[in-house]
Amino acid sequence: MSLNLFVRFEGVIAPNISQAFFSLRDNSIPDTLIPTEHHTASAIMKHQYGRFGPVSTSALTHFLDEQQIDVSFARLVEACRETGVSVTVVTNEFTYSAERILKAKRIRGVNIVGNHLMLNGDIVIPEFPHQNTDCPRCSCCARNIMLNGSSDQAAIAFVGAGSIDYCPASYADIVFARGELQTWCQQKNISYREFLTLDDVTVDLKRITQKRRIPKRREADHLRRAAFSAE
Ligand SMILES: [Zn+2]
Repeated sequence: MSLNLFVRFEGVIAPNISQAFFSLRDNSIPDTLIPTEHHTASAIMKHQYGRFGPVSTSALTHFLDEQQIDVSFARLVEACRETGVSVTVVTNEFTYSAERILKAKRIRGVNIVGNHLMLNGDIVIPEFPHQNTDCPRCSCCARNIMLNGSSDQAAIAFVGAGSIDYCPASYADIVFARGELQTWCQQKNISYREFLTLDDVTVDLKRITQKRRIPKRREADHLRRAAFSAE
């Protein structure tokens, strides 16, 4: 059985990117709004970037090139390449930012799915091609990306850390969790594997891919079938 791995960018690969992005302009501290049914993650982003003010492309690229990531992500990508596991990076931020940051760290060969960044002159305009109206927390719904990017025969593994990961984690067969996601998995009785760095995920994945059969998580399989039949 094949395995598809989905890894959250902000909070996992790049632990501080969301807050750091706004520190580019000190008059643009983000609102600490929690997405709700009436105030979605994409609406909050539009509001925040509406206040962002002009930004020069060279300042933006310089800023992105300076960002730090969990260096163990490179080892995880390499291990996935060796074991035939596909890796997709999901982000509620911009695909452009994640691509630029990973390229600066010489990490290639991973699929990245996130929001689109349009620059109209020097004004940042976010676009949300993967928005899901059922899901206010995701401006780029990782659940849909996982479901559309996996066949019925493949098992799905997801790595997350924050409240934006509640949505995709419910639909994954194997959940790697820390932080808020870990607490939530405990509350919802979702089995998970704890990780500190992505090296922990690599060790576990190597063990999992050696098995002849990767078991599906029953509740996740039910939810995936329900999501497909609702479409
Ligand atoms: Zn979602």
